[in-house]
Amino acid sequence: MTDAQFQLLRAGSFVLAVALAAALQRLRPHAKWRGSVGTNLGLWAVNAAVMGVVCGACACTVATWASVAGVGLLNATSASLWIAIPATVIGLDLVSYLWHRANHVVPVLWRFHQVHHSDSTFTTSTAVRFHPGELVLSLPLRLLAVLLLGAPAIGVVAFEALFAVSNLIEHGDIDLPLPFEAAVGEMLVTPALHRFHHTRAGADRDHNFGTIFVLWDRLLGTYRPSSSSVRVDVGLLDIRDALALRAALLLPLRSPGRES
Ligand SMILES: [Zn+2]
Ligand SMILES: [Zn+2]
Repeated sequence: MTDAQFQLLRAGSFVLAVALAAALQRLRPHAKWRGSVGTNLGLWAVNAAVMGVVCGACACTVATWASVAGVGLLNATSASLWIAIPATVIGLDLVSYLWHRANHVVPVLWRFHQVHHSDSTFTTSTAVRFHPGELVLSLPLRLLAVLLLGAPAIGVVAFEALFAVSNLIEHGDIDLPLPFEAAVGEMLVTPALHRFHHTRAGADRDHNFGTIFVLWDRLLGTYRPSSSSVRVDVGLLDIRDALALRAALLLPLRSPGRES
């Protein structure tokens, strides 16, 4: 797979995920939040520019190099794509869980990650509300995971597509039918489960770190059940006002966070 094909597939899945999440949000709204769209899309644009320069399709480059060099578990064992693609999705989702959890524990990482939690609403646009520092800091870990796993480029694309769909939908202001939500929530992260992670109260926030699968939270003791029938006060205790783009970008310098 070429870098251009990788970027095209990734962009296409992102657009489809946005459309799906926006449609669900419109059809089955939860709290009818208007969303911090200006700041969130501003951060998305900054991130697209920064990551385009810093990385571009670097995960694809690393995966292709590892495949040719025979580096990494899946390459060393000559795993078929039927094994390698699901293993890549599961492995990279675990790395994402661990990274997210570290962001809530390590003070310098929380400085950046608090920007994501500083949204006092919870809508699909919250899914792209990340400080560029957080994305740049996560890059070495993500690339190392691709390398050690020997992930195929097509597996990385599959992961990124599923990650985008999960991330955009689970941040949606969406009420799912309760029996359906309970069934899906046995395996996948639902909007209600991730909404609970955005609770303003700090202790509750340290749960439900997963993005695609709930397995990691269940296995590692951070799972808390929630449903669309629960109303959640989202945001941070010490940031009551909506942040403009500039304030969101400067937040890691200004506030150490972790108020509770
Ligand atoms: Zn978080
Ligand atoms: Zn979130």
